[in-house]
Amino acid sequence: MAMPRISFLSLTLGSVFSFLSLASAQQPAAQPEPALDVASMDQSVDPCVDFFQYSCGGWIKKNPIPADKSSWDTYSKMQDENTARLRGILEEAAAGGAGRNAVTQKIGDYYASCMDEKAVDAAGIKPLQPYLDAIAGLRAKSELAQLAADAAYTSHYRRSTLFFFSSDQDAKDSAQVIAEAFQGGLGRPDRDYYFKDDPKSQELRKQYVAHVQKMFELLGDKPEVAAAESQTVMRIETALAKGSMTRVEMRDPQKLYHKMTAAQLQTLAPNFQWTTYFIRAGLPALASLNVATPDFFKALNEEIDKEDLASWKTYMRWHLVHAAAASLSSIYVDTDFEFFGKTLQGTQQIEPRWKRCSQRVDNQLGEALGQAYVDKYFGPEAKQKALQMVKEIEAAMEQDINALPWMSAATKPRALEKLHAVANKIGYPDKWRDYSKLEIIRGDAMGNLMRADQFEFNRQLAKIGKPVDRGEWGMTPPTVNAEYNPQLNDINFPAGVLQPPAFDLKSDAAPNYGDTGGTIGHELTHGFDDEGRQFDAQGNLREWWTPDDEKEFVKRASCISDQYSTYVIVDDIKINGKLTLGEDIADLGGLILAYMAWKEDTKGQSLQPLDGLTPDQRFFAGYGQSWCGVTRDETKRMRATVDPHSPEKYRTNGVVSNMPEFQEAFHCKAGSPMVNQNRCRVW
Ligand SMILES: [Zn+2]
Repeated sequence: MAMPRISFLSLTLGSVFSFLSLASAQQPAAQPEPALDVASMDQSVDPCVDFFQYSCGGWIKKNPIPADKSSWDTYSKMQDENTARLRGILEEAAAGGAGRNAVTQKIGDYYASCMDEKAVDAAGIKPLQPYLDAIAGLRAKSELAQLAADAAYTSHYRRSTLFFFSSDQDAKDSAQVIAEAFQGGLGRPDRDYYFKDDPKSQELRKQYVAHVQKMFELLGDKPEVAAAESQTVMRIETALAKGSMTRVEMRDPQKLYHKMTAAQLQTLAPNFQWTTYFIRAGLPALASLNVATPDFFKALNEEIDKEDLASWKTYMRWHLVHAAAASLSSIYVDTDFEFFGKTLQGTQQIEPRWKRCSQRVDNQLGEALGQAYVDKYFGPEAKQKALQMVKEIEAAMEQDINALPWMSAATKPRALEKLHAVANKIGYPDKWRDYSKLEIIRGDAMGNLMRADQFEFNRQLAKIGKPVDRGEWGMTPPTVNAEYNPQLNDINFPAGVLQPPAFDLKSDAAPNYGDTGGTIGHELTHGFDDEGRQFDAQGNLREWWTPDDEKEFVKRASCISDQYSTYVIVDDIKINGKLTLGEDIADLGGLILAYMAWKEDTKGQSLQPLDGLTPDQRFFAGYGQSWCGVTRDETKRMRATVDPHSPEKYRTNGVVSNMPEFQEAFHCKAGSPMVNQNRCRVW
């Protein structure tokens, strides 16, 4: 089910990517920092008062947010170094020469076309003209379905226009893939943006309408016409937002499961021609699907009835240009950045083109680029070492479940069964995706983008009705992130995240376990958080808990959501502890497991202090430094609404204050800010 992906780090939104601008574009990636860098700490701060500041005070001083970033932290820095590596690979592939093969031809030609700004600027709006003509040519609202299905445009367009349609694992029959329809249709990152009433949100709403108007003007509309059109867009989007589920509601996978026949969907939302849509999408015989968010489709249905044809044309035009803006000529790119980068996230300047293009190749041809990346930057030693750590942390979890005081003997074997069934995906997939049917033409940037999107759309739909491929990866190898997928019951660590400083083969064990060990424990614990625990060993949404054990879990989870709900993000906005619950549970469980695994790994060794820190202190400081980072206020506000992760400061302080091992390591007195009087613990 297309529930929000459960990743370790913060999500990146919209068309604006966030990577660092290196001082000189031509220089190789900067020298990575060590797993624990004492110079990045601030030892004048009492670790028992603010452990985040103690671990990261020096780092924060040394690392102002670059102008082209909305936030800056350990992981975005790693991602930025990776982007420079990708650039090296792509420039070599683009230069051609005798060594080119099918893979380097595709990524090289894609990159070269994307980098050719002159050609993209010269083309202007032309690449969208056929689609604009199709919208202008609509004769009746009943033709909306055909238009939506034919829209090859971009995956972003499909996600943001009317609704989102793709395939996914059947939540209650995890061996099978089914079709799925999901809410969508909004131009901004969340439904809440349409309703929040504080002055900042009201102002943002006005700025959004002004942005929509500007884009219509770029399309050639007169200002007064464009102004009216922007009001139409806002009206339709607000109605769709009203019918949308909140992010907290979507954390309950039961609420996202409504399997029905195509005929039942036609009854639910009769104003949209579903049969036409499915036929045009290449699914003439679609028998059933999951309608994840039925209330949304009811709202869409009413809205189709309520608004006239002209208004729908306006809405479709906006979403077409909005989705393509970041890939069009400079005027569209800059205007798009002005709102979505600057106003919404506080980013001061757009990233250099090579970063945007490298990232686009990673998005669209990730497993082709990934092959070249892995060859160059991910050795067997790193893979083997990571796998060993994963095994140790899984063993720690087994020990942890066996010793759990609150879970009954009836539920424990099922928890263990689930743990033993977790698949470990490390580095890159065993089998690379085949892109041979995707045509990449040098000199046709927009065509490449659309064909790659169409390729991906078709690839997703081709899975419907077939058995699940459990070897497939959701993230590309260079990605600096990790995830747990509850339906595949697997943990994923791409090669990109198994790099220094997060994972440093040269470091002593303590900071590596605090950092990457904590990440592995985090992903594993997601299998047992408020959302993941509802899936069984095979990834089926099925109750495997006794009612009493469930009660015990909920009680302990509430301790965590209550704790985090007291933390302030920015202004007077506090963490929504129900939105971040899964991540907060995973952070705490993850570090507890990492600590257990580290102790086991180094059992019998005589560990010595280093850089003036005891081994236990180094373990926790390694964890603290994994969260060093700074975020712009605008982005903090946005994340408060959309991000299921707590801010870095609380991912550090919230966790350590629950651990007696931390109190002991730093000799913190009872009553210190970093000693939670009412300690929370789930796993
Ligand atoms: Zn996570």
